[in-house]
Amino acid sequence: MELVEKILAGDRRAVARLISLIENGDAQAQRDLAELFPHTGRAHIVGVTGAPGTGKSTLVSALAKEERKRGRTVGIISVDPTSPFTGGALLGDRIRMMDLIGDAGVFMRSMASRGSIGGLAFATSDAVRVLDAFGKDIIFVETVGAGQAEVDIAKAAHTTIVVEAPGLGDEIQAFKAGILEIADVFVVNKADREGADKTANALKTMLDLGNPVRSTRSRPSTAPRRGFAQDELTTQTWRPPILKTVAVEVQGIMPLADALDQHLQYLRDSGQFAVRERERITDELHDLLARALLRQKLKQLGNGAVAQIVEQIAQRKLDPHSATQQLVQSGEDL
Ligand code: GDP
Repeated sequence: MELVEKILAGDRRAVARLISLIENGDAQAQRDLAELFPHTGRAHIVGVTGAPGTGKSTLVSALAKEERKRGRTVGIISVDPTSPFTGGALLGDRIRMMDLIGDAGVFMRSMASRGSIGGLAFATSDAVRVLDAFGKDIIFVETVGAGQAEVDIAKAAHTTIVVEAPGLGDEIQAFKAGILEIADVFVVNKADREGADKTANALKTMLDLGNPVRSTRSRPSTAPRRGFAQDELTTQTWRPPILKTVAVEVQGIMPLADALDQHLQYLRDSGQFAVRERERITDELHDLLARALLRQKLKQLGNGAVAQIVEQIAQRKLDPHSATQQLVQSGEDL
């Protein structure tokens, strides 16, 4: 049986195999993904991001258990942009996740960088698609750091949880990286520790100061949405809730799971689901196109020509902008 058939038939090993092919940039993976694509678009994709040590993994495993209780199947992808590729990284096998292993309703996988962070973001969204086609109802994408890579990866999610914890320094950790803008739900984990209220209040103040209500991530669209008048659309807003949890003791997990459901409902009711979907597709298409065109251009130019131009720039005979302009216009005659 082909890999795709096996995946659609519920074969976990086939899923693991395809994700490995994706990580390796194997050409077969692209063909398999194309076949799986019509089977995607059903899962609720939830990004979980925040500084290391805030308790994301603990939180995700607690959430996964809660979702299983609610009758849903779960996918978990842990992404570590900082650790090198190890050929199916071992992060996901961390001890605290052990009790989820053996539950056929949960599929866990970690992914690490195989060079470019951009490549990892692509590989991650493809791996999410595999789990979506595999039939997982909710897919958590956990990122280990708190930088641009996380922001990129989170963009692929419907709902993004930003996790904070007290005692990691006074500042709200995610402040630095522009992660706050992508938050749909804030979690102050380690609420058993001193300073949790302070962290929650800081988040609240920041939400009040900044955009008090976040109705859209994007430019407004003039296209009418299914089932919603335009003015209805603009009045539907979502204010990210700030929830306190103690992940190690499974406290506050039910309200968090509720918030995820509510956010998905909001996205659907407000028409934002369709808007964001198209934004995501546009972003991905632009990125893929940029890569493909670059590859094509470099191939067309040949190594020698590129080296020559680099040399001219290094010798200050040509500036990078003019060089780019020349290369873009150089056309087929090169
Ligand atoms: P991650 O790096 O964000 O994935 O964080 P982990 O899930 O690995 O958790 C980091 C550490 O914090 C671990 O030792 C956890 O046991 C601990 N931890 C997680 N949640 C809580 C919590 O709610 N309270 C306390 N006190 N510790 C927690």
